[in-house]
Amino acid sequence: MSQTQTVLSVRGAQRRYVKKGQAALASADLDLHAGRITALLGPSGSGKSTLLRAIAGLERLDGGEIRLGDTVWSGHGAHIPPETRRVGMVFQDYALFPHLDALSNVAFGLKGKDAKDIAQAQLEAAELGHKAKAFPHELSGGEQQRVALARALAPSPAVVLLDEPFSGLDRRLRHELRDRTVQTLKAAGATAMIVTHDAEEAMAVADELALMDAGRVIQTGTPDDVWMRPVSAVAARLLGDVEIIESTVETGRADTPFGAVDAHGFDEGETVHALIRPQAFGLSLAKDGAFTITRRRSAGTHLVFEFAPAEGGDTHWHAHTASPSPLHEGDRVSVSLDPAYLSVVRR
Ligand code: ADP
Repeated sequence: MSQTQTVLSVRGAQRRYVKKGQAALASADLDLHAGRITALLGPSGSGKSTLLRAIAGLERLDGGEIRLGDTVWSGHGAHIPPETRRVGMVFQDYALFPHLDALSNVAFGLKGKDAKDIAQAQLEAAELGHKAKAFPHELSGGEQQRVALARALAPSPAVVLLDEPFSGLDRRLRHELRDRTVQTLKAAGATAMIVTHDAEEAMAVADELALMDAGRVIQTGTPDDVWMRPVSAVAARLLGDVEIIESTVETGRADTPFGAVDAHGFDEGETVHALIRPQAFGLSLAKDGAFTITRRRSAGTHLVFEFAPAEGGDTHWHAHTASPSPLHEGDRVSVSLDPAYLSVVRR
């Protein structure tokens, strides 16, 4: 089986909750690939949960389709009920049955007389074999999440959907648990989608990233690709800090306050956005430099410099540079751009 074999595909998915309002899903397209983890990242209200729920069969589509291989799950008048879709779900609050112990929670969706054995093996894979008899209220938040994941994986689902699975946990535990979750999904060879609104988390878990905005998937790719080559200002902003400079293309270049940048492939006179990551800026001390450092602060792993045109005005930009640095507030600097951290897109 090839690594990029499509397991599940969503095409033109539409979902409208109120007749005239904005659609929760405008026309969303997404492929989930065999054995890969896709992180679905978007701001609150962008339609992530609606898409997850539509894949699970908990929402009906108003248009478009969802297919597992050749089987239509949603669309063309069909709607396969959630219980017959081969989907494993991990909810934000884990949704464990409070009156069942960990083993019975994991065994819940399993049929046949070996259900308990499969459930026990799944718990052991989650290093929770010793907690089989514990009830949810006797487990920590992290353990509950691991039981929820074990329950989702136990019936060997075609796809596993995780809705903000780390949001209820403190920061240190979050990191530990997300690494563990990735390991568990990989060990099971699962095809998975993790919904999150946290860019750092999305990039940490994803083989493939899908960016969502206003009911559409606006970009997909590896975290690296998407970070380095955002398709729009909205996509760039979703993954972190970026300076957005509007410019007009002249003879294949777009002028910015930091010099002209390559803009081949665009029409002459076209309005574009230069998307500049803070890592792109090189600041060097220069007596007659065109910029002044207006603020310097440490962000632990790097320094953040705010700089502005030397002649004044309201505009300022942010640069991230390695620590230590000889530059300080009030210094005049010249600014260069590393093209690796910048892209030019249509406005
Ligand atoms: P996200 O998960 O990205 O935060 P959602 O899918 O929850 O976004 O919501 C997308 C849009 O649909 C939002 O505008 C939200 O208010 C609306 N919405 C979601 N669920 C319902 C519902 N059951 N009834 C009405 N509107 C809803």
